[in-house]
Amino acid sequence: MAVYTYLCPVDGVFDVRAPIGTAEPEQDCPACSGPSPRRILAPRLSLGDPAARTLLDRTARSAAEPFVTSALPTSSRRPPVSTNPLHRRLPRP
Ligand SMILES: [Zn+2]
Repeated sequence: MAVYTYLCPVDGVFDVRAPIGTAEPEQDCPACSGPSPRRILAPRLSLGDPAARTLLDRTARSAAEPFVTSALPTSSRRPPVSTNPLHRRLPRP
């Protein structure tokens, strides 16, 4: 759902919730039922959940600039070696 803003010349601004992409160019005012044109405003992303906004930003950034690994990690930790004798026959990486 998205929030679309309309401006009634008599009563002022009002919002309408509707599925994304289904906004009508004009809505009837809930107070006077007069025709009200849609107002195009900047998205209200700052009002959303910060975690959701961060996820959206990362998703958008990774679509345009995917993260590419060009070197091995600098960590010196080695994976643990199993001492179980049954693991000796398992394939090695
Ligand atoms: Zn009105």
